[in-house]
Amino acid sequence: CGIVGYVGGQSAQDVVVAGLKRLEYRGYDSAGIAVLADGGLAATKRAGKLVNLEKALVEAPLPAGTTGIGHTRWATHGAPTDSNAHPHLDNAGRVAVVHNGIIENFAALRAELAERGHDLASETDTEVVAHLLAEAFSACADPAEAMRQVCRRLEGAFTLVAVHADAPGTVVGARRNSPLVVGVGEGESFLASDVAAFIAHTRAAIELGQDQVVELRREGVTVTDFDGRPAEVRKYHVDWDVSA
Ligand code: GLU
Repeated sequence: CGIVGYVGGQSAQDVVVAGLKRLEYRGYDSAGIAVLADGGLAATKRAGKLVNLEKALVEAPLPAGTTGIGHTRWATHGAPTDSNAHPHLDNAGRVAVVHNGIIENFAALRAELAERGHDLASETDTEVVAHLLAEAFSACADPAEAMRQVCRRLEGAFTLVAVHADAPGTVVGARRNSPLVVGVGEGESFLASDVAAFIAHTRAAIELGQDQVVELRREGVTVTDFDGRPAEVRKYHVDWDVSA
């Protein structure tokens, strides 16, 4: 439902949770966050309102990191439980992904992954993406290329945002039939399903086009199509105000 991604110099947890709050008006049933820190990846997710996630983060703080992603879920596949909440991780816990929309061919992909020895823990259509990204990344070691390879295999409507523990300082996103907007700051970059999530930090935005992948780093963003061809992007200024 709501997606936020961040890479920069601030606490990723603070920026992501604040961004998710800005998206609360859309409605949701669960929330979660993943942060890259100390060469690893840490995630927390909870069914219910954001306050449940915030309580969990106070009780067991995530390690401090400046790259992170977050999600508020509106369940379509699988009940609104802690384990079905996003982010979803691969079995090694190196990849985390959040997703808006529906992966129509998830059942075939699940069966294929199970055959290759993957252990799928949730009831969601989303989890297959974490496992596919982990496989693709281990072959190409490039998070944007891994995302492109996976997107070419997906059917349906999706906004996907992912991090990989072996690609610190990088967030990748992709979209098809579901919105994704990039925020370009000074030494920091943002991704969100809606500009409301980041306009407290920057008003320089890029609307991703259909079937595009973005690689987000502190220094800036790179956008391609699903085949890796550089994409034309149009930066615009968000000049409207949102109420708190
Ligand atoms: N289909 C996914 C799920 O049920 C994503 C739902 C959403 O857009 O929040 O987990």
